[in-house]
Amino acid sequence: MATKIEIEDMVTVGALADKLMIPVTRLIAELMKNGVMATVNERVDFDTAQIIAQELGLDVELVRHSTTESALPKREKTATSENAVPRPPVVAVMGHVDHGKTSLLDAIRAAHVARGEAGGITQHISAYQVTHKDRLITFLDTPGHEAFAAIREHGAHLTDIVIIVVAADDGVKPQTIEAIRFARKAGVKIIVAINKMDKEGANPNLVKGQLAENGVVWDDKAWKGDVPMVEVSAKTELGIPELLDMVLLVADVEDFRADENVPAEGLIIEAHVEQGRGSVAHGLIERGILRPGDYVVSGSTYAKIRNLESTTGQKLKQAGPSTPVVMTGFKTLPEFGDPFVAVKTEKIARAEANRIAIEKSSGNGRIGVNSTELIRMINRSNELSECNIILKADVQGSLTSVIDSLKSLDTEEVAVRVVGSGIGSVNENDIHLAQSSHAIVYGFNVAMPANIKQIASRDKVQVRLYKIIYELIDDVKDELTKLLAPEVVETDLGRLVVRGVFKTTKTEVICGGEVTKGKLTVPALARVKRGDELLGEVEITGLKRGPQDAKEIFEGEMCGLSFKTTKRIDLLEGDHIELFTRSTVARTL
Ligand code: GDP
Repeated sequence: MATKIEIEDMVTVGALADKLMIPVTRLIAELMKNGVMATVNERVDFDTAQIIAQELGLDVELVRHSTTESALPKREKTATSENAVPRPPVVAVMGHVDHGKTSLLDAIRAAHVARGEAGGITQHISAYQVTHKDRLITFLDTPGHEAFAAIREHGAHLTDIVIIVVAADDGVKPQTIEAIRFARKAGVKIIVAINKMDKEGANPNLVKGQLAENGVVWDDKAWKGDVPMVEVSAKTELGIPELLDMVLLVADVEDFRADENVPAEGLIIEAHVEQGRGSVAHGLIERGILRPGDYVVSGSTYAKIRNLESTTGQKLKQAGPSTPVVMTGFKTLPEFGDPFVAVKTEKIARAEANRIAIEKSSGNGRIGVNSTELIRMINRSNELSECNIILKADVQGSLTSVIDSLKSLDTEEVAVRVVGSGIGSVNENDIHLAQSSHAIVYGFNVAMPANIKQIASRDKVQVRLYKIIYELIDDVKDELTKLLAPEVVETDLGRLVVRGVFKTTKTEVICGGEVTKGKLTVPALARVKRGDELLGEVEITGLKRGPQDAKEIFEGEMCGLSFKTTKRIDLLEGDHIELFTRSTVARTL
């Protein structure tokens, strides 16, 4: 008798392999055979699992295990009550590449994070707080605009203020404009930091003029705008106290507040695995107070918070709104950009994580695979060309940023398919998966050990490592461009009105007429028309001016014309022959 196995409505490939007691690679291979590229963490639905179990010839009977409704109280996302207390502003720094975002964040951090706390921190940290005039300001230290886009996509208003950095010697550039657009769209306050004021070519007035042209006008009496601008130098630290004063001033005017007496809630801003500590998640608390030992759900994972720390490594007994925290204890890695919320018991946390896992999988074909998609994949026509890639990144934030940016490259004809992704160096599994799925392996800020390089070259798998997001994205874009069918371009040449027909066979016609428009050349293609009716598409084989062969006949001239046709065309006087050429041009995305 078949063994009964209970599975959820949606189950990860890894968990299904466990339940079926087969190696996960065998399951992935079987899914692939059926046209489904699913990695170990992706989910398949019950029906797909059943089909695959049958295909594998396993003597099992799958039984559906149903899940529960959300146990979490439904809460208004942005509402604050009368009891809301003031909270530090959350600030992000954006601007064109090389205008000094990193230098400015470093200068602020070096001068204002208590010494010792900041000591030894060299790697990218997701967020930190500084104290200025005895008040706290939270800075988000983001890897770039893509990360913001990812956060925004998840529907959260994490930032209160965006500092747009513009180099005084370089002026407004495309990414400055992008930053302005972002801030406007997100409805956050803008402060402009005109940086590199120590440089010889610094011209702040020019910058202010350029910004005004882009709708960002200085709040000076003469300029009559509403955007504060501060002249700074990240190098000499000139103007940095004034910049921080300005942040506090904007915060006072805006009066940012949050409730503390509600279950803690926030957003994951970074997540990675650390040896000895497991899944380490950085989060920014939006409301409520979080404490070690609290149960927290984020996406399809949950934690009993084991350690609660500041992003500079100090143990915290509790953390309130606008505080960036580091949390350990998550069962699996939470996703960058996902909200987290504290719940009362482990039971609720587990049930909620499970429920979200199912919701996510059924709502998003990229994360999960359901039977409808399985069928679609099996029956897929050749309309959509896909570029398979495997993506490895140093931290969850970068991985999510890259994946989100890649999504925007998809068109109706070509799409990126991430067949595998993960944190850490490129490893042997990645190469095997790339080989079986004809994928290119991309690494962002990760290394490839020498032995893996050898395996990749032996298996003819391409591995491309990048340190700059947009260079990686551009490379994938190039790959997609190669998949695009070339564009067919027609160029009109000229038009002949038929005045006499000299010979008609099944495959050839010779006629005479007058060129009424453009010029006729040979070789060329042509459409033969009677009024608006298309009689056929033909190939011009000869032109004659009088008895002489001609290469070109011009408007107003009479000529003889012969064409080849695949079906008989009984041409009449008054029909038109419209000549054109057709060529193919490589397309770009
Ligand atoms: P980002 O790409 O916007 O993060 O820019 P970086 O902070 O990496 O700065 C780009 C370059 O400009 C680096 O070589 C910095 O040393 C330099 N830089 C940044 N701020 C200043 C400044 O205030 N004055 C001068 N002279 N150079 C600066």
